[in-house]
Amino acid sequence: MSAELTAIPFNRPVPTGRELEYIQQCLHGAHLSGDGPFTRKCQELLEQTVGARKVLLTTSCTHALEMAALLLDLGPEDEFIVPSFTFVSTANAFALRGARPVFVDIRPDTLNLDERLLEAALTPRTRAIVPVHYAGVACAMDRIMEISRSRRIPVVEDNAHALFGKFRGRYLGTFGAVATQSFHETKNISCGEGGALLINDPSLVERAEIIREKGTNRSRFFRGQVDKYTWVDLGSSYLPSDLLAAFLFAQLEQREEIQTRRRRIWDRYQAELCDWAAARGVRLPTVPDGCEQAYHMFYLLLPDLERRQALIQGLRQRGIHAVFHYQPLHLSEMGQRYGGRVGDCPVTERVADQLVRLPFFNDMTAEQQARVIAAVRAS
Ligand SMILES: *Cc1c(COP(=O)(O)O)cnc(C)c1O
Repeated sequence: MSAELTAIPFNRPVPTGRELEYIQQCLHGAHLSGDGPFTRKCQELLEQTVGARKVLLTTSCTHALEMAALLLDLGPEDEFIVPSFTFVSTANAFALRGARPVFVDIRPDTLNLDERLLEAALTPRTRAIVPVHYAGVACAMDRIMEISRSRRIPVVEDNAHALFGKFRGRYLGTFGAVATQSFHETKNISCGEGGALLINDPSLVERAEIIREKGTNRSRFFRGQVDKYTWVDLGSSYLPSDLLAAFLFAQLEQREEIQTRRRRIWDRYQAELCDWAAARGVRLPTVPDGCEQAYHMFYLLLPDLERRQALIQGLRQRGIHAVFHYQPLHLSEMGQRYGGRVGDCPVTERVADQLVRLPFFNDMTAEQQARVIAAVRAS
């Protein structure tokens, strides 16, 4: 056999060029703790591009979700709606406050919370609806917001996949009372570990600042609005170091380049796999009219678990790392403690066995992608 081909990872962090320069500036500026100049730059950039009323950087999306649960005062008597097909944190953050997750199934086309099942899942105890824009494709936000308004139940968008995605021309993350972002290494834009809370309901801004500052009114103090700061509410330490914000700012500045590259990768997978998929009974992602997606991932839905595992295995033998994704939360150990049973969310249960995500990272080369496509087609 000839020289072995180098492996193609599923994901890799890709610097954009100015990360170290900004970190150095941060060192020289001698403000390494939270809420320094780079934190402000990141927040302002996000406020201006996405149009959220207020953006607060956080240490992770998980922590932004925990802040949302505190902000909306969820407690032991309360329920919240969450898709079963999501990351643990979407549910755990609210469960930490003692609230009970009500798992709703997903639409078979977009794999997003099925808005047709939403009303039937609401009870007088429902205190939050937490949709996830899976793969960066919008949920049916018109219908979800209509239900939210008529039932007066706030929406928290878990927007970890969908920064810069849109629904009917409006940025995702600006529909809910609040929304959460992730800058984890696996996301389009990253600083290793990081996140943000987007606050759209102006009445929540001041308390969000307090919750993020260990329950103190420190932010008001620094603005000169109070002459000392003190413990005024529940809170924790959700501020990232300005060093991480410096790294993140370098990435955010390159958002257009990053999104353009990712669109190119996504479009090529779609173009070069659609015939193969149709012939094999494999489904490619659906992007409904009105959705401008955020190009977070490219997935395939194989006919069944056996063929999904065979594809992952076959790719691995060719040095290509493809992965499956979320397992149904309602059937997890914790989910079952909340009463989750097989059959509760049939689409989630099926899709969890069928889905495979192909390698996708910001500096994936045309040659690497050609190898992935050829290997998929040969399987
Ligand atoms: C990545 C992710 C999270 C968690 O993000 P962290 O920043 O790692 O806490 C939450 N929800 C979804 C949908 C995610 O993909």
